[in-house]
Amino acid sequence: MSSVGKGIAAASIGKILQARGFEVTAIKIDPYVNVDAGTMNPTEHGEVFVLDDGMECDQDMGNYERFLDRDLSRANYMTTGSVYLDLITRERNLEFRGRCVNVVPDVPLEVIRKIELAAKKTKADIVLVEIGGTVGDYQNLLFLEAVRLLKFKQPHDVLLALVSYIPSLSGGGNELKTKPTQHAVRNLNSAGLLPDLVIARAAVALDKKRKEKLEFMCGLEKGSVISAPDVSSVYDVPLNFEKDKISDQILEKLDLISRKRDLKEWRRLSSVVHNAKQTVRIGIVGKYFGTGRFILTDSYISVIEAVKHAAYAVKRKPILEWVDAEEFEKRPQKVQELSKYGGIIVPGGFGSRGVEGIINAIRYCREKKIPYFGLCYGMQLAVVEFARHVAGLKRAHTTEIDKKTPEPVIDIMADQKEKLAVKNYGGTMRLGAYPAILKKGSIAFRAYGGKRQISERHRHRYEVNPQYIDRIEKKGLVFSGTSPDRRLMEIAELPADKHPFFLGTQFHPELKTRPIGGHPLFKEFMKAAAKRSALIVPASFSRLPLRARVLAKKK
Ligand code: GLN
Repeated sequence: MSSVGKGIAAASIGKILQARGFEVTAIKIDPYVNVDAGTMNPTEHGEVFVLDDGMECDQDMGNYERFLDRDLSRANYMTTGSVYLDLITRERNLEFRGRCVNVVPDVPLEVIRKIELAAKKTKADIVLVEIGGTVGDYQNLLFLEAVRLLKFKQPHDVLLALVSYIPSLSGGGNELKTKPTQHAVRNLNSAGLLPDLVIARAAVALDKKRKEKLEFMCGLEKGSVISAPDVSSVYDVPLNFEKDKISDQILEKLDLISRKRDLKEWRRLSSVVHNAKQTVRIGIVGKYFGTGRFILTDSYISVIEAVKHAAYAVKRKPILEWVDAEEFEKRPQKVQELSKYGGIIVPGGFGSRGVEGIINAIRYCREKKIPYFGLCYGMQLAVVEFARHVAGLKRAHTTEIDKKTPEPVIDIMADQKEKLAVKNYGGTMRLGAYPAILKKGSIAFRAYGGKRQISERHRHRYEVNPQYIDRIEKKGLVFSGTSPDRRLMEIAELPADKHPFFLGTQFHPELKTRPIGGHPLFKEFMKAAAKRSALIVPASFSRLPLRARVLAKKK
């Protein structure tokens, strides 16, 4: 079922196999008909992740990139929609030379073709393929058939792992129940498949008795049930899997000889995660985030991970809190509450909800010298705030919110206007990696280690309006990153002698964060936030665990 941890399981297996000396890549298959994730609502489906080549895809792709430390491409992602779209395009191109194209086997064969293409493109030794959805769902029958055909073609090269939930009922003495997994395996059997591994997701590690029961009832090989207990940090999952010797099993079953075994760096990361004593408290300010932890963590997962990575890089335990900006519209003096944070982030977003509250919050951070990091929308609104309150453009706004503003400091680009007129919304934003040139001596330049050119990922329609750049820069906001032709503003910042950290990016740096080392800009922000936290956080606070919390009361 969803949220059981298939993505993390796949990413973790990838990490482990990498540590054994193999080049690994990962493919995500989403069973929905949408061609990509770009048109889906993040509060329902989770964050839309963007790859270098502009592919808008599932958040699991982010997990793969972060765990494997590899940049992936659109070859690594498919949906029912994209499989059919490509198959139909090939049929229209007469690639089938007049023969009848059938759902079976042509759709599963198209899936296999895509998997093989990705393997070739990435030159991977091992390709992990995650099939989304649930065994027994109609939607993924064709993908299971692809597995069956692939296994039939190359029986010794294909290994199937089932990630399954093992519930425990408090009325039953918390006993772990293997029955749903037994039925899931039966369901797989009816698709002609027997799993080689069962990854048993449960609150706790599975005991020997239950492992043996599953093996016996499902006809699995000895030792093929791997415990996957709940963890406080996803970065512990590879280490947990290795406790059950998962990599030995995989390599043996695939008949591969290991080249090494090295999870040292990963263990070091885990040690920082669990042992960091000092905390850093970060507030994420945005439009009403909803109430469930699930919604929050899923729609901003990359931001959350980027904050964690940066905190780990400076050996701090991060405490993240969600702050509803609408509160600052109703009661502007409430922004003072922001002074308890080491730093404030305004993440990406769309639409008018909470915008004036966000602008109030940004103003407070700027004036009170609280480290501020704006991501995409957070950068655009920082420019609006600066234009209004420093550059004297009192009615400055983004035309996303106020189409008739007399001072459109953030405006839609001409080519975006053309695209929107066609009403074919899929993939029409500025998407994917673009280069930016950094200004020497700026905070950004220092953060990126003195690099002149960087590459970061985008997903937006609006830009800083070139007509206002001079007026804004004259008042002290520095555009320290621009497109190579200097037309597009990529980074805005206040100089280091004016503010400890006040920086916004038109791109989404969170899409390129890595667990070991973190993203350069998040790390720079975190250093400033940690410094401030050390001054304001009471000692008792450091004992609180990392958690996501909505400050505002439910309406
Ligand atoms: N809404 C803004 C735009 O479209 C920002 C988008 C974002 O934050 N990803 O330009």
